Amino acid sequence: MTNTTDDSDLVLLLRRHRVQVTAQRLAIMRAVSSRPHATADELADDVRAVIGSISRQAVYDTLGLLVDKHLVRRIQPPGSAARFEDRVDDNHHHLICRTCGSTVDIDCAVGAVPCLTAHDDHGFEIDEAEVVYWGRCPACRAATPEPASQRPASERPASERHMSERLAHAKEQQ
Ligand SMILES: [Zn+2]
Ligand SMILES: [Zn+2]
Repeated sequence: MTNTTDDSDLVLLLRRHRVQVTAQRLAIMRAVSSRPHATADELADDVRAVIGSISRQAVYDTLGLLVDKHLVRRIQPPGSAARFEDRVDDNHHHLICRTCGSTVDIDCAVGAVPCLTAHDDHGFEIDEAEVVYWGRCPACRAATPEPASQRPASERPASERHMSERLAHAKEQQ
């Protein structure tokens, strides 16, 4: 785990992965550790707050390098910016809120890669399965009521209830 690393642990980690140690790389690794699933832009803001100016391109390039060296994992949810985390090599999945984009880790469904067995491998050698669970987080659920059609009639406003009752009545008469 790299969540509570001080610099000496990070230096060793980078060296073990044959990455030349620089202040920028250390700062970016630390930012990824402290804000899992952040976008490159969010990480650039965090790094800038710590070490002062760093170009967006330098952040993108460094993240690319760290991903290539398997120090950082890139997740690319459809329709969203790429996100980065330092929890690598455990094949975990992600649960993403459709409304606000908040992302949480979901442990591998069965425990070993690939944890989902394809119905037909089409002759491929499958070595990984990546799943995105989509939904609405507790905060967004609390902020927006569920669609009326999913609530029981007794919880719906009287106007809607009358409409559905009228429709039911019309059906009975057919
Ligand atoms: Zn949300
Ligand atoms: Zn994750």
